[in-house]
Amino acid sequence: MRYAIFGDIHANLEALETVLYDASQAGCTEFVCMGDIVGYNANPVECLNKVRDMGCPVVKGNHDEEAIQDTSLEGLNPLAKRAMEWTRAQLNEVDRQWLGDLKFVRQVRDFTVVHATLDTPGGWTYVTNKFDAMASFSYQFTQLCFYGHTHTPKIYTKADRVEEYDGLSVVMEDGVKYFVNCGSVGQPRDGDWRSSYAIYDDEARQIEIRRLEYDIATAQQKIIDAGLPEMLAHRLALGK
Ligand code: ZN
Repeated sequence: MRYAIFGDIHANLEALETVLYDASQAGCTEFVCMGDIVGYNANPVECLNKVRDMGCPVVKGNHDEEAIQDTSLEGLNPLAKRAMEWTRAQLNEVDRQWLGDLKFVRQVRDFTVVHATLDTPGGWTYVTNKFDAMASFSYQFTQLCFYGHTHTPKIYTKADRVEEYDGLSVVMEDGVKYFVNCGSVGQPRDGDWRSSYAIYDDEARQIEIRRLEYDIATAQQKIIDAGLPEMLAHRLALGK
């Protein structure tokens, strides 16, 4: 079977629809969401409805958690604060309940999915190097795990030691574990504005990260029209 693993959608409906269409065209029949459906961009409710209606496994991201709380946003920078206030105001009680019920970690068939890290799933720290990856590998009990949160696609491997894999497509080998960042559907930050997600083929034992152009102009215009900070529209084009 072919699985599409996608997340860090961040309320970008144009990007989400593009990814889901591409995944279907590529023969994916199973879908798994690694969290952060909402936050930053202009279509949180539409994205939430789309993912919920798919009925696929979903794990909770930090923005999903933040969006359903009524805690103070004083610690955030003004840009993030404004975006989160706006997002909170869009969600109804049913949406909040659904987001609140999401788990931090899920096992799907032979692989695991988490938003940020396996060592402290609700702590929202970032895996940015192989030492961070090492901590997650200690809690990885399947050969393969998908994660996100940094908005940067990356593959780490662990055999005798943890290595950063050179490339974004790999055929899995026996005796090696894989910790794979799918990148971000709706707000990539690796300098490439195109949407990112992963396909896992469990028969070919292959993992592939795909990048896709989407209708960024529409997504940007929606951000402006919603009265969200313009910087959020600009950064989409920068891939930051
Ligand atoms: Zn995110």
